[in-house]
Amino acid sequence: MAAAQIQKIVIVGGGTAGWMTAAALATLLDRAGLDIRLIESEEIGTVGVGEATIPHIRSFNQRLGLDENAFMARTQATFKLGIEFRDWARLGDSYIHPFGAYGRSMDRVGFHHHWLRLRRAGAAADLQDYSLPIVAARMGRFQRPETDPRSLLSTFSYAFQFDAGLYAAFLREHAEARGVVRREGKVVEVDLHPENGHIRAVVLDRGERIEGDVFIDCSGFRGLLIEGALKAGYEDWTQWLPCDRAVAVPCDTVEPSTPYTRATALEAGWSWRIPLQHRVGNGYVYSSAFLSDDAAVERVMGRLEGPARAEPRLLRFTTGRRRRQWMRNCVAIGLSSGFLEPLESTSIHLIQAAITNLVELFPDAALDLADADEFNRIMDLEYDRIRDFLVLHYNATERDDTPFWNHCRTMAVPDSLREKVALFKERGVVSRYRDGLFLEPSWLAVYFGQRIEPDAYDPLSDRVPSDALAEAAEALRSAIRKEAATMSSHDAFIRACCAAGATS
Ligand SMILES: Cc1cc2nc3c(=O)[nH]c(=O)nc-3n(C[C@H](O)[C@H](O)[C@H](O)COP(=O)(O)OP(=O)(O)OC[C@H]3O[C@@H](n4cnc5c(N)ncnc54)[C@H](O)[C@@H]3O)c2cc1C
Repeated sequence: MAAAQIQKIVIVGGGTAGWMTAAALATLLDRAGLDIRLIESEEIGTVGVGEATIPHIRSFNQRLGLDENAFMARTQATFKLGIEFRDWARLGDSYIHPFGAYGRSMDRVGFHHHWLRLRRAGAAADLQDYSLPIVAARMGRFQRPETDPRSLLSTFSYAFQFDAGLYAAFLREHAEARGVVRREGKVVEVDLHPENGHIRAVVLDRGERIEGDVFIDCSGFRGLLIEGALKAGYEDWTQWLPCDRAVAVPCDTVEPSTPYTRATALEAGWSWRIPLQHRVGNGYVYSSAFLSDDAAVERVMGRLEGPARAEPRLLRFTTGRRRRQWMRNCVAIGLSSGFLEPLESTSIHLIQAAITNLVELFPDAALDLADADEFNRIMDLEYDRIRDFLVLHYNATERDDTPFWNHCRTMAVPDSLREKVALFKERGVVSRYRDGLFLEPSWLAVYFGQRIEPDAYDPLSDRVPSDALAEAAEALRSAIRKEAATMSSHDAFIRACCAAGATS
């Protein structure tokens, strides 16, 4: 006999996480009798930042059946080919972590090994010149990738920079059209079953009681259900990622919009610059142990390229993750599940990953613990691996100009990262993860960008005659420049296909 199905899902929170979850569950678990309710409080509001994404969001939107141009117009979105890191390893440095690989492998040897060999012979250009998305980003160019794998214009991917509040509103329409019911109100009480500790219902400030079989905690940093009611516990990662505050302020757009996000290392953290169609998002992520809030506000205001469009907004956070993200009949998604600072634009991706795993492991009414264990195992790995990647940016620096950078350069790092870096230094090899978000091209971008130098390259590179190798690399470099120059300007591309107000 088939097990009884979950009938009632209650989502607490209507930020990006809440509406992404509601829209996805209503679309992907589409079945008769499923009742999805979402509770949000306008009075409490949302965290209100979160603008840069990574390419995976495109598959999320596609699974929901969202039209990309309509989505972009509604969310004031621009395209993103990568992230520029300024001043990270040394003051004056700049590199882009692109959404695409460097060069092309030859003779089954990764391009970066050939590049290392050429560089030793004094015959290599900057590694960045062998990446189409980097060259296009620096030229301010964009087009969607070609599908023919022989074309250089197929060698990249892209993501978006958008207004996350508008994205939530867009998804709300999608979710409500598929039957999700929104309740306005503040959850003031959580009713737990006296025997098994499962959540039976939440009670709103006006006395309404909402019962459910499964509760999704999208209540933001406060983790109202997962922590407030269930006490899942939190693993604090401040010893590796010391920033614990941010000040955010949008400003007017005064320049053509860049198809990339910028992260500039400052004295006690880093600042972001994210161009949207109608404004530029700015912020300073910093460590309160090394900088006062007033100094951070002054610094970010002094860096604005146009007039501020709002008062600066201060946010506090503790980097880390919930010890259990799925506990009993409650699943935490979004900021309630943990927080990794936005250096590599991964928070919205973590929401997406949690939703995908929840849909795959969606329980029946018996609520099998194995589903929860598997979900937690996968999400823990996602978090751990992104953490290591972020720590690399801070630790692999030569900067010694402020106490903050001295701390980052000399701090202990997780063993998993230490071992990975050691292997790269020894042989230029990126150890592979079976799961996890960032793949070899991303690690290479940051290793080289942060000036980590391997002692050796793959000796198989020596099978390619040096003249032929130098010629092939130079041909590739010049073809990349030529192809990038054929692309449209980023702003012109947006105007032609997805300008805000142009599509509904
Ligand atoms: C400084 C900073 C920069 C960021 N930049 C990026 C970025 O560039 N890219 C990226 O991917 N992510 C970024 N993020 C993360 C991103 O903002 C969040 O992941 C995303 O907005 C999801 O937030 P959320 O929905 O979990 O929480 P919130 O936006 O906080 O939403 C919480 C919801 O819960 C509701 N709620 C809370 N308590 C109650 C209650 N008692 N009763 C009823 N409702 C309640 C609130 O009303 C709200 O609707 C950034 C975060 C920070 C702090």
